[in-house]
Amino acid sequence: MSFDSLGLSPEILKAVLEKGYDSPSPIQAKAIPAVLEGRDVMAAAQTGTGKTAAFTLPLLTMLSKGQPVQTNQVRALILTPTRELAAQVADNVATYSQHLPLRSTVVFGGVKINPQMMKLRRGVDVLVATPGRLLDLYNQNAVKFKQLEILVLDEADRMLDMGFLRDIKKILAALPKQRQNLLFSATFSDDIRKLAKGLTNNPVEVSVTPRNATAPTVEQSVVPVDKGQKSSLLTHLIKDGQWHQVLVFSKTKHGANKLTKQLCARGIEAAAIHGNKSQGARTRALAEFKAGKVQALIATDIAARGLDIDQLPQVVNFDLPNVPEDYVHRIGRTGRAGANGKAISLVCAEEFKLLSDIERLTKKLIDRQIVKGFEPTHTLPESRLKAQKPTRPKKPKPGHRDGQRSGENSRGHQH
Ligand code: AMP
Repeated sequence: MSFDSLGLSPEILKAVLEKGYDSPSPIQAKAIPAVLEGRDVMAAAQTGTGKTAAFTLPLLTMLSKGQPVQTNQVRALILTPTRELAAQVADNVATYSQHLPLRSTVVFGGVKINPQMMKLRRGVDVLVATPGRLLDLYNQNAVKFKQLEILVLDEADRMLDMGFLRDIKKILAALPKQRQNLLFSATFSDDIRKLAKGLTNNPVEVSVTPRNATAPTVEQSVVPVDKGQKSSLLTHLIKDGQWHQVLVFSKTKHGANKLTKQLCARGIEAAAIHGNKSQGARTRALAEFKAGKVQALIATDIAARGLDIDQLPQVVNFDLPNVPEDYVHRIGRTGRAGANGKAISLVCAEEFKLLSDIERLTKKLIDRQIVKGFEPTHTLPESRLKAQKPTRPKKPKPGHRDGQRSGENSRGHQH
């Protein structure tokens, strides 16, 4: 299939050609025609599937046909959970709209509001925004929605995880009722479905990965290791494997800082990216990582969410995430758009429960590989996928609560 058959405008096709894409990705092939028909769309697609272009290309085509934008007005609003994602989406919008007379800008918190107000004054066709800053701007009359035609919620699941539901509701209340809604989310939890129900009108549902499945181009493995050995092991893996670009996930900001210092002390160029860093420091670290000046970028889940780094070859989970869905998001940073990637998780015995949760969610046991010289003294129990639940639920036996059962199980497997 080629992009030509999807109904996009010639200016957009030209930009896509210049970007070097030959054919639409599956999410693009499904979502683009539906958006161009004016339908609401609910799409399940994680980062790396080409989802940004899936909504941006048809959105720009639609906007190229309408009325010019007026003072302080916005014609399409794209909401994203993080500043980094907002900046990335805005870059994409700018690239794809370069041959069209459309104006776009991005607003997010953590930087001065005045320059953003100035940019909004003439009105913009596309505004990419994080919810908090958008509300600030709206409350100060710097942005108005009378001309709003299209709303996009990107990474809606993460927006809910980050507690943006109230802000989203306030924003929705300020928008015209008559509009097109596009909702993109990596996973479709019940909360997302609830949000979608109140937001979309008879949406076309598109999905490219089965619910909570991990991308097949990602080679996953678990390296069992003692907790205290993790940073030495990571140093060894980076040096031995000659990794030039590795994204490392840390559960905490403090952990990310500590690990960054340890790696730097061992001669590895590393930088941390998390919520306590200033916007400038985050942007700089990301730019240096992309340019190959920083070898290891140590990120917390929220900071890394949606980072688009072309062809990222290697992701490491230094700690497993508390929420198993985050594992799916994390490893979605590699193996992007058909490229192969590796995701390695360094797992200590006390993370066994987290590992089991991930394996249960993805319905897959992850291969284990012991690294010579780093054999754990605290053995990681063997994991097993639990048998499918019977279709008719049995009555629970007295004294057999779920928590107890899994506790007994994990103890039973220890050597
Ligand atoms: P996304 O899922 O939007 O974060 O996109 C993931 C990556 O795939 C980005 O680097 C895009 O530039 C790239 N990409 C998007 N669409 C295509 C396509 N049709 N062919 C090749 N690469 C693409």
